[in-house]
Amino acid sequence: LFAGPVDFVKGVVKMEGLPPADRVEICFAGRSNVGKSSLINALTGRKNLARASNTPGRTQEINYFAVGEKAFLVDLPGYGFAEAPVAVVRQWQALLKQYLQGRSTLRRAFVLIDSRHGAKPVDEEIMSLLDRAAVTFQVVMTKSDKISAAVLEANIAQVMGVLQKHPAAYPELVVTSSEKGVGLETLRAIIATLK
Ligand code: GDP
Repeated sequence: LFAGPVDFVKGVVKMEGLPPADRVEICFAGRSNVGKSSLINALTGRKNLARASNTPGRTQEINYFAVGEKAFLVDLPGYGFAEAPVAVVRQWQALLKQYLQGRSTLRRAFVLIDSRHGAKPVDEEIMSLLDRAAVTFQVVMTKSDKISAAVLEANIAQVMGVLQKHPAAYPELVVTSSEKGVGLETLRAIIATLK
């Protein structure tokens, strides 16, 4: 699937702006600074495809990338930024809800969680949204190179505990490091099977 080119399609701020639902899509969600842009760039082998999302108050766009003509990778705006204005947060939540509930071609959501921090309450909010929208989600642990194996184990256990409460959770998580290239091949293989 990733043998061909990956291209930016468009940034979307309203449901009406979504591209035609003519292929499978996979979305990426996560707290601001979780390493979402780095992961998308590493996965696609394109250095600056996804831009870092850590500017609070920046226009909250859903960014679409096309993997050849077979799939869309969808970069959802980062959430949980403490300084984001309430209006921005509300607008983001509304769009996210509409997107998750209304996109028939959405096959899976990857919920990114920082290996150092484990699942936070905002992550659980997203998981609950995904439960309600009946979108299967899979947790991707990011930045695994930043901590010891022991801490990683403990945080994986914490996340697995949280997943038990969420019916839409896929039971296996993927440990990654964009920096070291860990887990990227596994993720690509998972995406390739989601037809
Ligand atoms: P985003 O806001 O979720 O898009 O996060 P970014 O991809 O911009 O990453 C936030 C910060 O974490 C940046 O300084 C990245 O260089 C760093 N980062 C992202 N992924 C990794 C990783 O796998 N390992 C390490 N050590 N740092 C990472």
